[in-house]
Amino acid sequence: MRIVLLGAPGSGKGTQAALMVEHLNLPHISTGDLLRAAVKAGSDLGLRAKAVIDRGELVSDDIMLGLLEERLSRPDALGGFILDGYPRNVAQAEALDELLDRLEQPVDEALQIDVDIEMVIERIAKRAKQEGRSDDTEEVVRNRMKVYADQTEPVIEFYANKAILTRVLGQGDIDDVFQRIKGVLQIRSES
Ligand code: AMP
Repeated sequence: MRIVLLGAPGSGKGTQAALMVEHLNLPHISTGDLLRAAVKAGSDLGLRAKAVIDRGELVSDDIMLGLLEERLSRPDALGGFILDGYPRNVAQAEALDELLDRLEQPVDEALQIDVDIEMVIERIAKRAKQEGRSDDTEEVVRNRMKVYADQTEPVIEFYANKAILTRVLGQGDIDDVFQRIKGVLQIRSES
């Protein structure tokens, strides 16, 4: 199954993706993780991306598509994947569509984890303490929320129009949310 995970920063996407990986035995492809790995490795791309990430803005569509194409071409992605952090805007959603159409492997399910903003800010503050991410300061988080509202929210509509979007309530504890997700995946795999 090819799954796109959507949700605001701090919606619990990464946590749920990790549980889904175990449940479905599919690779978790996080474009944020790919970028952080490039930053850590000190590659050219990483150096260019770091300043953008630290402002909470989006890295260019060209760079992201290159990174994604490379990752999707690895053998472990052939049997499906859980894509987390991509697409971030409608242009990326269209590029992904085109890429997967070419491979005859369209997205099967777009899963949106729906949370309220107050809860998200609390979660991010917690994560900042645990992981020390450089883009988890309050000012940058606020910008990431704005970028999400302006650029990523229209992607929800994009998948709704394709009739593959399911909205899952992200409130409650981790396991409650995961049970909801499992229910959705069960229905999707039967359809
Ligand atoms: P994430 O871990 O998904 O929250 O991503 C962290 C940061 O990486 C984002 O705030 C962006 O700066 C950058 N990023 C991750 N995925 C993308 C993407 N698909 N397009 C552009 N920038 C991205």
